[in-house]
Amino acid sequence: MHKSFKVENRLDYRILRWILAVALISGVIVSAIQVVLDAQRVSTDLDNQASQTIAMVKDASTQAVFSIDADLANQVVDGLFAREAVRLAQILHANGEPLSSRERPLTESVFRPLINWMFGAERQFRTELMRNGNSDTVYGYFVVHYDTAPAANIWLGRAIVTFTSVIATAVILGMVLYFVFYMLLTRPLLRIVNSVKQVDPAHPDDRLIATPSGHEKDELGHWVKATNTLLIAIGKSQERQREAEDRVSRLARYDQLTGLLSRDSFMDMLQADIEESKRNHTLLSVIVCGIDDFKSINDQCGFRTGDLTLQTVADRLMSCLNGSRFTIARLGGDQFVIVEKGLKDGFQAADTAEAILARISETMGVEGHNVSMTATLGIALYPSDAIQPDRLLQSAEQTMMLAKQKGRDHFQFYVASIDQEIRDRKQLEKDLSQALAMDQFHLVYQPQIDLQTKRVIGAEALLRWEHPVRGLVPPDYFIPVSENNGSIVEIGQWVLEQACLQAKLWADKGLPLRVAVNLSAVQLRQDRIVDDILGTLKRYDIPAGRLELEVTETSFMTNLSDAVAKLHALNRAGISLAVDDFGTGYSSLTYLKKMPVQHLKIDKQFIRDLLINEEDTRITNTIIDLGRSLNLTVVAEGVETAEQEYYLSQRGCKLAQGYFFSKPLRPAVFETFVQGFHQKIIENNA
Ligand code: C2E
Ligand code: CA
Ligand code: CA
Repeated sequence: MHKSFKVENRLDYRILRWILAVALISGVIVSAIQVVLDAQRVSTDLDNQASQTIAMVKDASTQAVFSIDADLANQVVDGLFAREAVRLAQILHANGEPLSSRERPLTESVFRPLINWMFGAERQFRTELMRNGNSDTVYGYFVVHYDTAPAANIWLGRAIVTFTSVIATAVILGMVLYFVFYMLLTRPLLRIVNSVKQVDPAHPDDRLIATPSGHEKDELGHWVKATNTLLIAIGKSQERQREAEDRVSRLARYDQLTGLLSRDSFMDMLQADIEESKRNHTLLSVIVCGIDDFKSINDQCGFRTGDLTLQTVADRLMSCLNGSRFTIARLGGDQFVIVEKGLKDGFQAADTAEAILARISETMGVEGHNVSMTATLGIALYPSDAIQPDRLLQSAEQTMMLAKQKGRDHFQFYVASIDQEIRDRKQLEKDLSQALAMDQFHLVYQPQIDLQTKRVIGAEALLRWEHPVRGLVPPDYFIPVSENNGSIVEIGQWVLEQACLQAKLWADKGLPLRVAVNLSAVQLRQDRIVDDILGTLKRYDIPAGRLELEVTETSFMTNLSDAVAKLHALNRAGISLAVDDFGTGYSSLTYLKKMPVQHLKIDKQFIRDLLINEEDTRITNTIIDLGRSLNLTVVAEGVETAEQEYYLSQRGCKLAQGYFFSKPLRPAVFETFVQGFHQKIIENNA
C-alpha cells in the first residue's frame, strides 16, 4: 500500500530529516559551547596547578639557591618531574646560572596542532626566589614549563564523548519520532488514501472511507467522518440528479396522458421494426388512427372528457393489439399510430384495421356521458409504399387525412391499387360469406376419359360461383379467400353433398360414374373431416368407391402424420384418393409411399407444353413411369389437343381430362355429352 509513494516524499521521512538536522545542529552548537567552556577551565586549571606547584617548591628552592645546595636543588627538580605535565624545571642563580636543570621533550600526539592552537605547546612560569621578610634581595629564579598535552588530551576525550552523545541522542530522538509519527499519522493516512481510492465516483455513498482503527476519536477520525458525510451528501445529490434526468427522459419517451410511446421514441422503434422486417423478409404496416370529430367531443363534453376519451382509446388499442407484433404510440392530439410487423400480405393489415375500428366504435361511459366515437385509419406498407420510417409515417398520415375527407369509420391504404384490391377482397369475403345462403354456388363436372377404352369413367366436380353483380367468379380467386377465412369448410361440405347427390342421381339413371371432389388442405386439417365425409356418403347412399378425393401435396405436408391417418381412414372405407397438381410441389417418393393414394394427376402446366417443351415432356414421362412402378393410375389434366391425347395414350397414361374432350359442364349437359361421346366411339369403331 505504500508502493505508490516515494519514501523521500513521505511525511514521516521528512520529519525524520528535519528532526535529525535540528537535533544535530543544536546539539553541535550546545556541545561546542560546552567544549569551549571546558577548554577555558582546563586552561585556568593548568595555570592554577602551576602556581600551586611553584608555591609548594618555592621555599625549598630558595633554601637550595641560598645555601648553594645542588643536591637539594636536584631533589626539588626531580620531585617535579614525577608529574607528567612538567616538561622543564630549573633552579637558577641570580646571575642565571642553573643550579639544577632538567627537561624532556613534548609528548607526541596526533592532536598536537589542535592542542598547540587551543592551549599553546607549553606554559612557561618564572618566579624570583626571595627569603621571607627580606623581600628586596633576589637569590635566584625558579623556572618551570608545563606541557599542555596531558590536560588537553583529557579535555579532548571529554569533547568527543560530548559530541557523540549529542549525535546519538539526536539520532535516537529522530528515530523514535519517526516511528511515532509513522504509527500515528503516516500509516493511518495511507490507509485512508487507499480507502478513498476505492470510492466509486458514480456512487460515492456506496462505499465510504473506513476510519483507521484506534483513530475514531482523534483528528483523523473526525476528518474521515466529515468526508463521509460529504460523500453521502454528494451521493444523494447525484441520485436526485439521476432521478430528475430519468423523469425528463420518461416524459420525453412516453406520452403523459395515455402512457403510450411518444412520437420521438416511436420513430426509433419504427426504425428497429423496419430493420427486423428487412431481415425477415416480412411486411410491416403503419396504421395512423385519427378519432373522428374529436373536436366536437371536446367542445360538447369538455377537455376532461376529451382526455378520458383519449385514454380510453389508448386502453382499447392496447387491449385489442397486444403482443410483440404491435407497437402503439400517440402522435399527438387525437392521432395514434400502430405498427404491425411480421405480415404476409396487406390483407392482414386490413384485418387489424377492421379490428381497431370495431373496438374503438364500442360505446363507452365517460363521466356520465355515453360517448360513442369512430376513427378513420390510414395505412402505409413497408416496403411497397416507403422504406424510410419518416416517409412511411408521413404516407400513413396523409392517407388518414384523405380518408377523413371521404367519410368516417373506415380505413384506406396509401396506394390506390392496393387499396382497391383490398377493398375488393374485403367485399368479396363479405359476399362469399352470404353466397351459400343465397344459393349462388353450383357445380360443373368435367369428364375423365379412359384413354384405352375411350369411355367416360368419371367426372371432376368443380365449384362455380355466380356473383349477382360480377358474374362468374373464378375459383382460383375465391377459393384461397375462403381457405383464408375458413369458410371453405362449410362450402366444401356443400360441394361434397352436391357431388354425392349427383353421383346418386346418375347411378339411378344408369350412369355409374365416379365423382372426384377437390378437398382443400384446410378441410383436411379439420378433426371431424373423416366422419363428415363418411357420414355424407351414407346419407346419399352411394358406395364409397364412387367417390374420389383430390388432395394436393402441400395439404398433407403441414402435419404429415395427421394427414396420413385421416387419408388411411378414408381409403379403408373405400374412397379412392388422387394427388392433385402432381409435380408442382414436393413430389417426394418417401411420403408418396406412405400415402394410400391410387391416382396421380399430372398438373395441366406440364400437359400444356407437352411435345413443345422438352422439360415438360420429360417430367410428364417421369410421372407416368413413376405411376407405373408405384402401381398408381396416372391422370393427365388439361389435355387440349389430339396430339397430346395421342402421345399420352401411347406413353401409357391411363386417364385424361381436358378441353379436348370437354369443358366442365352442368349436369344435364354432361349427361348429353356422355351419351354423344360414347355414340361417337361406337360409330368410329363401326
Ligand atoms: P384443379 O383441381 O387443378 O382443377 C382443374 C382446373 O383446370 C379447373 O379449373 C378446370 O376447369 C381447368 N381445366 C380443365 N381442363 C382444362 C384444359 O384443357 N385447359 C385448361 N387451361 N384448363 C383446364 P377451375 O374449375 O377454374 O378450378 C381451378 C381450381 O380451383 C381447381 O384446380 C381447384 O384447385 C380449385 N377448385 C375448384 N373447385 C373446387 C372445389 O370444389 N373445392 C376445392 N377445394 N377447390 C376447388
Ligand atoms: Ca382437381
Ligand atoms: Ca390441377
